[in-house]
Amino acid sequence: MPDDLRPLPFDRLVSRMFRELRAQGSVFDLPRKKFLVDPGGVDLSVSFHGRRASTPLGPAAGPHSQMAQNIVLAWLGGSRIFELKTVQILDELEIPRPCIDAHNICYNVEWSQELRLEQSLEEYVKASMLIEMLRVALGIGPGLDAHIFDMSVGYDLDGIRSDRVRAFIEGMMDARGTVERLRGQIPDEYAHFRDIDFTTNLCGSLTLSTFHGCPPEEIERIIDFLLREFGLDCTIKLNPTLLGAERVREIMHDRMGYTDVRTPASAFEKDATWDQIVGIVARLRETAASLGRGLGVKFSNTLIVENHRDFLPETEKEMYLSGQPLHVLAMHLVRDFRRAFGGDVPISFSAGIDRHNFADAVALGLTPITVCTDLLRPGGYGRQAGYFQSLKKRMDDAGARSVEGFILRAFGCARAALEEAGGRWTPEIASALDAGDEPGAIVGGALAGRWVSHAKVLNTEAYVRGLADDPRYARAANASTPKKIGSRLELFDCVTCDKCVPVCPNDANFTLAIPPAEIPVVVLNKCGDGSWAATERGSFVLRRKHQIANFADFCNECGNCDVFCPEDGGPYVLKPRFFGSLEAWRDSRLDGFVAERADGRETIRGRFEGREFVLIVSADDDRVSFEGPGFDISFDPADPAGTAEGEAEGEIDLTYFAMLDVLRRGVFGPGATVNYVNA
Ligand code: SF4
Ligand code: SF4
Repeated sequence: MPDDLRPLPFDRLVSRMFRELRAQGSVFDLPRKKFLVDPGGVDLSVSFHGRRASTPLGPAAGPHSQMAQNIVLAWLGGSRIFELKTVQILDELEIPRPCIDAHNICYNVEWSQELRLEQSLEEYVKASMLIEMLRVALGIGPGLDAHIFDMSVGYDLDGIRSDRVRAFIEGMMDARGTVERLRGQIPDEYAHFRDIDFTTNLCGSLTLSTFHGCPPEEIERIIDFLLREFGLDCTIKLNPTLLGAERVREIMHDRMGYTDVRTPASAFEKDATWDQIVGIVARLRETAASLGRGLGVKFSNTLIVENHRDFLPETEKEMYLSGQPLHVLAMHLVRDFRRAFGGDVPISFSAGIDRHNFADAVALGLTPITVCTDLLRPGGYGRQAGYFQSLKKRMDDAGARSVEGFILRAFGCARAALEEAGGRWTPEIASALDAGDEPGAIVGGALAGRWVSHAKVLNTEAYVRGLADDPRYARAANASTPKKIGSRLELFDCVTCDKCVPVCPNDANFTLAIPPAEIPVVVLNKCGDGSWAATERGSFVLRRKHQIANFADFCNECGNCDVFCPEDGGPYVLKPRFFGSLEAWRDSRLDGFVAERADGRETIRGRFEGREFVLIVSADDDRVSFEGPGFDISFDPADPAGTAEGEAEGEIDLTYFAMLDVLRRGVFGPGATVNYVNA
C-alpha cells in the first residue's frame, strides 16, 4: 500500500517555481528550452465548445492532470486544453500498484483520482493560478495565452448527483472562495502576483468517464443531468469496443499483429453498441442545442484486455491498453462516427498521440487532442516541444497559417470539400488559399464553416485509409522494451541517466547536488572511563556527479520510473525518499528522510530499515547532535572520538551520520538545486 499523495502547500509551490526559474532556468525540472513561448508565426488556436484555446493539445485525464505541478508542466510544454483527472464520489480507493506499464505500448490499472474530492478541487485551482502567474512572469502574450480546463467526472449518476461531487462541480464553476484563500498564501516575495485578476470560473465543460460496461441508458441520464442541472458543455468518452469484437480482432491481430493482446468477449457484451451510441448522441445533441449547450464525443477510452504480462499486479485479471494500437482503433471510430454525423459534432481525441501523428490529428480538426502514454516516456512533458515542431513544419509545408487553413490544405481536399459544402471552386479561391487567407475571409462565414467541416470528414477518410497497415503502428515496430543492464539500484549512485526525473508524471524524482566523495566509515564506542574510541571500517564512496532522490508526498508508486530505469529495483523504492513534512514522515511505514531548516538549525531525520536517526547541525556551532536507537550524542565531525559527549548503550555506527549529513548538504548545502524539500 503506497502512502497517500500529499499536495504541496500553495506557498511552497509558488516559491519552488519562481526560485527554480530564477536559479536554474527550469520549472518543476522542465528546462526553459522545452517551454512553448512562441507559436512560431502561425495561429494554433482552436475553439472548444465556443471557447478559445491557444493550442488544441492537452494532457488526457490521467496521471498528467491530477496535481498542480503536473498541469503546470503540461502548460509549459504547450498544452492549452486540460482534461483534468477524473473525480468521483469514491475518493478513498486503493489503486493496485504498480499501476502503469508504459514499456512500449502502455497498459495501466489506474482509473480514478487518488486525492479526495476537496483536494482535487484545490489542486486544479492552484494549477490555474500558477499558470496565470507564469503567464505574467514569462510574458506569454496573445497567441499562447488562452487555455481551457475541462472537468472529468465519473462514474455513475448516483455518485455524480451526490452532494460532494456537486460541490466539486460548483467549486470548479465558481472558485472565488478558493482563489481568495490561495491568493492570501502567495509569499511576500511574490506579492505583486496577488494583484492578478485570477480566473474564478475554471470550467464550463465536462467530459464524462464511465466504467467499461456502463449501461447506455445510464450514460444518457448522466449527460442529460449535467446539461440541465449545471449548464455544462459535455463530452461523452466512448469505448473502443464500439468497433465490435470482429473488427477489433481483425485490426489488432490480423492487420497489426498484436496477437498476444486479447479483449475478453464479455467486454463487448457489456459495453454499449454502436447503434445505441448513435441514438444517444443524436438525442443528447438535440437536448444540448435546446439548452444552448454543446455536446461532443471523445475517442477513446482505453481498451480493456486480459493481463498477460508480469509487471502489473497479478491480482488484476484485466488491464487497459493505450498507445500506438489504440490510435488505430480510435481513428477508425472517428471515421465511423463522421460517416454517421458529418464533421460538425466536436470530437475530442486521445489515443497514441505522439510527435509523428499530432499534426494529422490537428488536420482532422480533432479538439482537444490529448495525450498520456507518450508523456510517460523519456523526456516526459518536454516531448510536447517535438509535437509543435512537427506541426509547424507541416503547416509551413502546406502554406497554412491557422488550424482551419491547415485542415483545408493538409490532405489536398480543399476543392472537394468546398464543392461538397455547396460552394464553387474558382481560381480566385485557389489563390486566396495559397496566399494563406482564412476560410472565413475567402468564402464568408456560413459556407466557410461547412467547408471546414467537409474537409474534416474527407481528411479523416484519407488518414484512416491504410492506417491499420502502417508499419509504425504494428507490433513489430512497438515490441522493443527499455534496456535493463542487470545491476540493482542502491541508495546512492546509479547509472545517473536522469531518465527517472522527467518520466515521472508527478515530478516526484529529483537530482541532489552531492559531489563525489569518499567518506571514512567510523564506529564509536564508549569506553569504561567515559572516553570514546573510534574504529574505522572502510569507507562510504559516492562516485557520481550527482544523486537521485524521490519526493514521497508526490509519489503514488505508479512504477513508471522503474520501467525506464536501466537498473533494477525502481528509483521510487530504492533512492532516498524525502517526505515533505515531519507529519508525513511519521505517518509512513516506509524508510525515508525529512529535512527542515529553521532558526539557524538544519535537522534531518532518517529511517533505515525501520531504525530512526536524527541529525541536527547548527550554523554557529562546530558540534552536531546525533541521536539513534540506544544513543544520543554530540560531537565535532572533524574529530568524533575526541569530542563526543552523551550516552550510548553499544557501538554507534557513524555511517548513518555520514549518510544523513550527505543528504542534508544535498538539500541545503551550497550548490543545492531548488527542490521540494528546500523550497
Ligand atoms: S516517482 Fe516513479 S513511481 Fe513515483 S509517481 Fe513518479 S514515476 Fe511513479
Ligand atoms: S535511478 Fe535509474 S533512471 Fe534514475 S538516474 Fe539512476 S539509473 Fe537513471
